Amino acid sequence: MNLCNQSYVRELLAKYGLAPRKAFGQNFLINPDVPARIAGSAACGFDCGWGGGEAAPAGVCALEIGPGVGAMTRELSQLFERVAAVEIDRGLIPLLSETLEGCDNVRVVNEDFMKLSLREFLSENFGSAPVRICANLPYYITTPILMSVLEAYRPGETPQVESVTVLVQSEVADRLCAEAGSADYGAITASVALCGRAVKLFSVPAGNFYPAPKVTSAVVQIQLYRGGVREAFPGLPEEDGELDAFIAAVKKAVSLAFAQRRKTLANALSPMFPKDALTASLEALGYRADVRGEKLSAADYIAICKAMRGK
Ligand code: SAM
Repeated sequence: MNLCNQSYVRELLAKYGLAPRKAFGQNFLINPDVPARIAGSAACGFDCGWGGGEAAPAGVCALEIGPGVGAMTRELSQLFERVAAVEIDRGLIPLLSETLEGCDNVRVVNEDFMKLSLREFLSENFGSAPVRICANLPYYITTPILMSVLEAYRPGETPQVESVTVLVQSEVADRLCAEAGSADYGAITASVALCGRAVKLFSVPAGNFYPAPKVTSAVVQIQLYRGGVREAFPGLPEEDGELDAFIAAVKKAVSLAFAQRRKTLANALSPMFPKDALTASLEALGYRADVRGEKLSAADYIAICKAMRGK
């Protein structure tokens, strides 16, 4: 069984009356090095280089979103104590029973990931064990899936999910990992930075997929802050309820700033803060009064919201 051989995958799908479904973003990996390297990077942290095969620490479990025909699932099964794989396509479930035969630590669940309560799902499947998420994400739903994972946890808590290692369009990968002020920087960059550290690991050209997408892809790993947002940004409110409200304000500021990129930050944030007070705070923090939101990092948004508290 070679789950990364294009002819084999085509025949396997046909045997179950299937073909790749565009509506579910089905682009299967056909280079065995790629799923092995993604699973290996999830198991041992930021890209461990490529020798492969190093298992995750004892007790750490994996959640795969969209196992497809099971190529990456089999890799995860070897590197993690337990694996759960959530697949939306009902037609793939009997096929996965065949391709994952013998992988006794894997549970396949036929569900739409977007309809799951992630917290409940993880606790039912893994108790309180740490979990690493791994996926070749369907392109049509990449950002909603990522945000639903990152927003499943309150800003101050230790998330059960330790990291998210995902294959996404290169353009999205560049956005997730961009520096403030760069052309790729966007609201999602700042939102992700409030939850964890994102690093681009490696590119995956279109020829590695069946069918081949029109774009290049890349693997990104987001390592979530173990101690919640306070670990990365000192001086945040100590009380959890207060922290929730503060981070909600930071996210609102980010979204207003990027919804109207051409406006100065003071104008874009005028629904939240009086313009004069904000301009004074910006200058006190060392920014020009006409600075635009795309120049500011997540830490800068936090500094502004701190300065504007109570104004
Ligand atoms: N992991 C396989 C691989 O790398 O070859 C398949 C990846 S394919 C890009 C995306 C997979 O996600 C497909 O199997 C698709 O059916 C599944 N999928 C799409 N939307 C989903 C959703 N909302 N919830 C769960 N699985 C989904």
